[in-house]
Amino acid sequence: MITVKKRELLAEEVRRLKSQNLQIGFVPTMGALHHGHESLINEARKSCDVVVLSVFVNPTQFNTPSDYTTYPATLDADLQCAERAGVDLFFMPDVEEMYQGELEVDAVDFGTLTHSFEGRHRQGHFDGVVAIVRKLFDAVKMDCAFFGEKDLQQLAVIKRLARDEFPGVQIIGCPLIRDTDGLALSSRNVRLSKDDRTRALKLNAWIHELKEGIEAGSSIEETLESVLTSAQQAQSLELEYLDIVNPETFEPRRSGGEKNEAFAVIAAAVNGVRLIDNCRILCS
Ligand code: AMP
Repeated sequence: MITVKKRELLAEEVRRLKSQNLQIGFVPTMGALHHGHESLINEARKSCDVVVLSVFVNPTQFNTPSDYTTYPATLDADLQCAERAGVDLFFMPDVEEMYQGELEVDAVDFGTLTHSFEGRHRQGHFDGVVAIVRKLFDAVKMDCAFFGEKDLQQLAVIKRLARDEFPGVQIIGCPLIRDTDGLALSSRNVRLSKDDRTRALKLNAWIHELKEGIEAGSSIEETLESVLTSAQQAQSLELEYLDIVNPETFEPRRSGGEKNEAFAVIAAAVNGVRLIDNCRILCS
């Protein structure tokens, strides 16, 4: 595995790979790698000749300074994990390399997609995400880029960005990976105590309650109202949102539409740790 910190050196490597007509797959991450990230690397290895992985904790996408400063950093373990998983090129720039002192980013307006749910509760979040993904895509010049459905709204935003600005890049969404107890894997999970973790499992329980109810034929509105009532009353957990959405537009999905796929989405903070989760629902 080749490790590079500078965009110029990355560009040199990419030119070398392209000159051999190799298909490049790219997996952008913020490090503290876990099995969710590994699943993206595995998908990239299946469909591309070489895999580029980036580890960069992007300051412009954090709306809470303490979340940025306490974001877990495990670089040595990440290098070992990436090597084991078959990454060819590991890109680990620092903030100066990516932003050159200019941390102001442009506002992004994809309508509801960037202004609802994560966009509403984390002001400026998608501005930062789009800014860094643009920079990374320009540097890596990949054929395919792999993103997790764990960050479902981010995946939709990136698909829209690629359609507008990187039409040659295929964006591949990969399934959400859970721990054995059902908790969606996240780098932030290390901040949860044993009790926090038990509370955090409620997120998965509620979205699956929605799925089961709706797929068994109950109306979206009634099921949502009943689960929302439990979620809003839960102790030691601050619910931000819980809803059923169209996964492409993030418009709320209600009864009466065509039979199609929707997603239950949830965000909540447990003892100051913000968590998100989602699951697919077949709506009839
Ligand atoms: P992060 O390092 O959290 O920014 O995530 C980097 C990429 O890994 C994003 O595309 C995430 O959606 C994806 N990812 C994070 N957690 C999971 C998970 N539990 N399952 C699948 N993909 C994930």
